[in-house]
Amino acid sequence: MQPEPNAELDTVVMKFGGSSVAEPKQIRHVAQRLVAARERGLRVVGTVSAMGSTTDSLLELARRVSPSPHPRELDMLLSTGERVACALVAMAVHDFGQEAVSFTGSQAGILTDAVHTKAKIREITPVRVLSALDDGKIVLVAGFQGFSRDTMDVTTLGRGGTDATAVALAAALGASCEIYSDVPGVFTADPRMVPEARKLSQVSYEEMLEMAASGARVLMLRAVELARGRQVPIHARSSFSDEPGTWVQDAPGMEQPIVSAVTHSVDEVLFVLRDVPDRPGSAAAVFEAVAAEHVNVDTVLQNSALETAELSFSVPLDDVPGARLAVERARSTLGPVALEELADLGTVSLVGAGMRSHPGVAAKMFRTLADDEINISLISTSPIKITVMIPRADVERAVRALHAAFGLGDEATAGAAG
Ligand code: ASP
Ligand code: MG
Repeated sequence: MQPEPNAELDTVVMKFGGSSVAEPKQIRHVAQRLVAARERGLRVVGTVSAMGSTTDSLLELARRVSPSPHPRELDMLLSTGERVACALVAMAVHDFGQEAVSFTGSQAGILTDAVHTKAKIREITPVRVLSALDDGKIVLVAGFQGFSRDTMDVTTLGRGGTDATAVALAAALGASCEIYSDVPGVFTADPRMVPEARKLSQVSYEEMLEMAASGARVLMLRAVELARGRQVPIHARSSFSDEPGTWVQDAPGMEQPIVSAVTHSVDEVLFVLRDVPDRPGSAAAVFEAVAAEHVNVDTVLQNSALETAELSFSVPLDDVPGARLAVERARSTLGPVALEELADLGTVSLVGAGMRSHPGVAAKMFRTLADDEINISLISTSPIKITVMIPRADVERAVRALHAAFGLGDEATAGAAG
C-alpha cells in the first residue's frame, strides 16, 4: 500500500538535465525515478530540461530565420523545449501507475523580471503545484522558463536555467533539491580532461559559486546564487545510479581544503580597449553600457599609463554581440577608443576556501605553469580563487598539470600547498 500524501511529508524537487531525457527510453527512466520517490511517500516535483540538444537546435533554427531573433519571440520558441519534455515525462508517469500533471513555468507560478533570454526569478506563487501535490499527484514543471507580470510575457532564465527553476521551487516549497545529470557530482576537475579527477562529497556555496563562474558546468551559476541566498542544500548526482553525489551546502565544521578544484573555460572572449581617457567616469561609461546590454562580465582589468588607460574584460561567447554594441555606445562618451577582441585565450582557475589563509598557492600555480612553458596573459584573483588567462591551446595541459601539482586526485593530500 502506498502512503497517503500529506503536507507534513517531505517534498522533493528532482531536476533532470537535457541529456537525461534525450530519448524516449530515458524519459521513461526519469518517470520511474519520480514514481519510486512518490512510492517512498514523498511529495514529488519533477523539473526537466529540453530533450538532448533541443535548445541548441531551436536557437540555430531561429538564427537561420532571423540573424538576430527578436528576444520575446526567442523566449516563446525556446520555452517549448521544456514543455515538450515535461509533458512526455508526465505521460510516462501515468503508465507507471501514478497520477501526474505537467505545468508550464507560468502555470506553476514562476514569476520573473522582463529581461528576455536571461530573466531572473522574482517569486514563485505555486498555488497549482501545491494543490496537485495535495491531490497526491507527481507534478512536472517545465524548467528554464517563467512569466513576467510587467509584460505578461513568457521569459526564459538563461542557458542551464532549469537548475534555477529547481532551486527556486525547492525554496518556495520548503523541499529538498536533487539535481540529476549525466555526471555523478562535482569533480576536482573536468573528468573528461583529467581521468584522475575525484568526486567531491561536499562543496560550500562560496566555492561552488566560484567554480560555476569559472567554467564548472555541473550547476548553473544563478542557481547556486539562489541556493546560497535561500540556504537550499543541493544534491548534485547521477541520473543513472543511486550513488550519493556532491552536496552543495554550508555544513558547520566543514573542512576547508586549500584547493578544492581546477576549473577551466574555453568560451570567453577578452575585450581589450586601448586609448581610454584616463579620467573619472571612463570605466563607468563602459560598464554602464555593458550592463544595459545585460552582458555578464567576468574578469576586469585596467591599467593606466600617461594620459590613457587600457581596459580589458572577458565576456561569454553568447554575449559578444551585446558587448560590441556596448563598446560602440561607450565611444560616444569616451571618443575613439581602440577595441581588440582576443578569442584564442582560455582561463584556468584554482578554487579553494582554504586559500584565504594559506599563502603560496599563487606562487606554486605560476611555477607549475612556467615549468610547462605555459605563458600567462592575465591574472586575476578573488579571496578563494586564482584565475589565469592562457592560450586556449594550452588549457588542457595546464588543467592536468595543476591537478597533479596540487594532488587533487588523492584524497589524503588534496589541495596541499606544498
Ligand atoms: N534547455 C536549456 C538549455 O539548454 C535550459 C537547461 O538545460 O536547463 O540551456
Ligand atoms: Mg540543456
